[in-house]
Amino acid sequence: MTKATGLISGGLDSILAAKIILEQGVEVMGISFSTPFFGSQGAERTAKALGVPLRILDITELHLGMLRQPKHGYGDNMNPCIDCHTLMLREAGRVMEEVGADFLFTGEVLGQRPMSQNKAALKVVERESGYEGHILRPLSARLLPETIPEKEGKIDREKLLDIKGRSRKRQLELAKIYHIRDYLSPAGGCLLTDPVFSRRLQDIFRQRGRFEVREIELLKVGRHLRFSPLVKVIVGRHAEDNEKILRMAAKGDDILKVEGYPGPFLLIPCGGDLEDIKKAASICVRYSDAPKDEVVTVIWSRNGKEKKIQVRSCHNSLSTELMI
Ligand code: SF4
Repeated sequence: MTKATGLISGGLDSILAAKIILEQGVEVMGISFSTPFFGSQGAERTAKALGVPLRILDITELHLGMLRQPKHGYGDNMNPCIDCHTLMLREAGRVMEEVGADFLFTGEVLGQRPMSQNKAALKVVERESGYEGHILRPLSARLLPETIPEKEGKIDREKLLDIKGRSRKRQLELAKIYHIRDYLSPAGGCLLTDPVFSRRLQDIFRQRGRFEVREIELLKVGRHLRFSPLVKVIVGRHAEDNEKILRMAAKGDDILKVEGYPGPFLLIPCGGDLEDIKKAASICVRYSDAPKDEVVTVIWSRNGKEKKIQVRSCHNSLSTELMI
């Protein structure tokens, strides 16, 4: 029996690609990836609905290494889609070999993303992944060169599709035919396509030579204000942010909170000096319900020890100026 490994993201295109391959009687194993920028929850739901096994690969370290200097650059934000696809296909190709599958398939559509899914980019990704000829794109296959499984008769090319371009019309028609309702939006869930997250990530790249995965996780929470190359503060915007800040705080971090008034928790990852603490405290007051023209008390804790400092709110322009 022909066997294939397929990239499953949980998006409609990857579901349709899997359906088309399954319809040809091929045994399918799904592959999904996890990094701090995107996860596999959508893929897990999809694999369950399709009734196929799923292998989830944590590619965090490889992805972070690539993200610093992607050979083919970034898209509109910090999304290095060509290099990211190459990395995914290289890793998925290894699984294909390990489980003895005949080929690898993806839900890519020719021309859907002008930069990363044009004919040349698809070819580059294929070549650089090391699996040239073994990667089938069922949704656009009839517009692309014949792959090895097609040549070997393991897949019927006539039953593959010829979708191209940015319109989602044909995919949506197919979703109706296959009764597919639960899927992620295109690029849904990839934080590297989000402008605010990308700006914060660029800031870390610019300011810090090395950083930990926790710092990436913190980029997803609150407002970020930079004081200096080594010091920045994160201010909760709502109860959920405040809970996350408390949960993610580590040894050596400073946590601030205005006493006696509703307001945010403020985190200084890896701590700051006294000047930083005072400035952070005034920002904490600015985002709290405390009166802005009075001196109020801010509780400052580090490693479980608490101190109190008296400050006034900073001027609005300071927080605007420091915002990343
Ligand atoms: S959108 Fe994100 S997950 Fe998708 S290829 Fe681009 S960088 Fe990778």
